[in-house]
Amino acid sequence: MTENYDVIIIGSGAGGGTLAYTLADSGKNILLLERGDFLPRELENWDAKPVFVEGKYISKDTWFDRDGKQFQPQVHYFVGGATKLYGAALYRLRPGDFDEIKHASGISPAWPLSYDDFEPWYSKAERLYQVHGNAGEDPTEGPHSEPYPWPAVSHEPRLQQISDGLAKGGYRPFHAPCGIMLNEADRPRSTCIRCATCDGYPCMVHAKADADIIAVRPLLGRPNVTLLTGAEVTRLETDDSGRTVTGVVVSRDGNREVYRGDIVAVSAGAANSAKILLNSASDKHPNGLANGSDQVGRNYMFHNCKAIAALSKEPNDTVYQKTLGINDFYFATKDYEYPMGNIQMVGKSNAEAMRGEQPQLTWFAPEWGLDDTAKHSVDWWLTTEDLPVPENRVTTDKDGNVHLTYAVTNNEEADRLYEELKKILNHTGMAAHHVFRKNFYMDMAIPLAGCAHQAGTCRFGTDPATSVLDTDCKAHELDNLYVVDTSFFPSIGAVNPALTAMANALRVGDHLRQRMG
Ligand SMILES: Cc1cc2nc3c(=O)[nH]c(=O)nc-3n(C[C@H](O)[C@H](O)[C@H](O)COP(=O)(O)OP(=O)(O)OC[C@H]3O[C@@H](n4cnc5c(N)ncnc54)[C@H](O)[C@@H]3O)c2cc1C
Ligand code: SF4
Repeated sequence: MTENYDVIIIGSGAGGGTLAYTLADSGKNILLLERGDFLPRELENWDAKPVFVEGKYISKDTWFDRDGKQFQPQVHYFVGGATKLYGAALYRLRPGDFDEIKHASGISPAWPLSYDDFEPWYSKAERLYQVHGNAGEDPTEGPHSEPYPWPAVSHEPRLQQISDGLAKGGYRPFHAPCGIMLNEADRPRSTCIRCATCDGYPCMVHAKADADIIAVRPLLGRPNVTLLTGAEVTRLETDDSGRTVTGVVVSRDGNREVYRGDIVAVSAGAANSAKILLNSASDKHPNGLANGSDQVGRNYMFHNCKAIAALSKEPNDTVYQKTLGINDFYFATKDYEYPMGNIQMVGKSNAEAMRGEQPQLTWFAPEWGLDDTAKHSVDWWLTTEDLPVPENRVTTDKDGNVHLTYAVTNNEEADRLYEELKKILNHTGMAAHHVFRKNFYMDMAIPLAGCAHQAGTCRFGTDPATSVLDTDCKAHELDNLYVVDTSFFPSIGAVNPALTAMANALRVGDHLRQRMG
């Protein structure tokens, strides 16, 4: 291949897809390399069995844990990346997340930039991804220079009841920010039909604000944008000085191809971006590309999460359940000196999904089948920040495979958050006198393979000795290499990461436009 592109972007998810979108009207020649294909639009998109039980949309990759035991990571190789399956809860990090925070297991470090630096990009990202929300309800939220572009998605009756109960109990529930194309004022014309198969499923009617639908598809057909699917980047080559990436090596249809670009932006997801850099070791970069600091692959984070199904006697008829959030425990409280995290809802359980997630669930409620259990459950998602620990890391072996070493942090905070949720349930019709038999919760800690929120393997910073990227997300050691996905996070906060990746891609895109003139 002889053509030289102005920019080559590797990966088309939240980071890469958004970067391509924001650069497209610069007129620069852009090549977007995506190892997956378009996710097929088919009835199975909305069927829990193929999605949750059979893992139809999960990659066939094999990764290895710290003991060398293999596992299948829940990663998704499609145009749009993980956003094709995401729950589209599009939160900003809180202003305090950009500062150093003391946690039970250690320190969450400060970012080199502040919330104010990111704020305009958050607003732009919310506009692009059509976020529905209600600024001002959540007291931990930072200032917004623009209101949410869409009104918050309304609560269905059971969720409204829960929200009212919480407010009465002195909590401050809020409408969670959602990236779905729902027009409640004009339902007949709404792209989104408000269904129960959203979180963790692809959207069959293309109404989820994912990176494929929002960012990549609008670019197809533009003369200056080329998308190559089925194009897995295996290695980056540099010139003799080691300062410039000169070749992007791709495996496509069993062939080796090499592409050239003035600027190369790696956005393959936190683990795979580290993999590409580590597998690009050379004489000039013996520990992997851009890895003189030995930080590439380190500080892997993916949140300390719990999915909780709380059962009450009363059925929960909610269809779209992700409308509620609680951040009363996001930072330290008067009763506990450390942050605990965020509480939000997950997609409504159904029997098939429960079967896929945890076959032994029926155990807990022998009188109920999975159908009854799912019908009565109210489903919560608890997120506690995990810390960037250098030993929690991605490495690769001689065959280039990903090895993930990870030890959990902040379990004490996560357990405290769970205790707080139990108290909360007393205000929401799931107290002892309301629940089936007794206060009854089933919790599922998320295993290593559930790497949905992976981040942090190439953190940005001002010191090349302790960070991989500078504050523009350019590798300290190279002149034309950027990393623009969740890899750049120096810490992860306790809210979902995608909006921050999108906002950052817009920010870096602005820098690149200025750089390219
Ligand atoms: C089930 C699920 C639910 C989620 N829910 C939420 C949510 O509600 N809110 C939220 O904020 N976040 C959510 N997330 C997380 C969110 O989707 C990710 O944080 C976000 O997509 C990360 O963006 P990224 O650009 O880092 O990676 P990705 O979006 O994963 O993009 C990486 C892309 O790179 C491609 N790629 C990988 N390796 C290569 C290679 N070697 N060559 C070429 N291409 C490559 C991949 O195919 C992929 O398209 C969820 C994730 C999952 C899986
Ligand atoms: S709720 Fe809306 S966006 Fe989500 S899957 Fe259903 S139709 Fe698509």
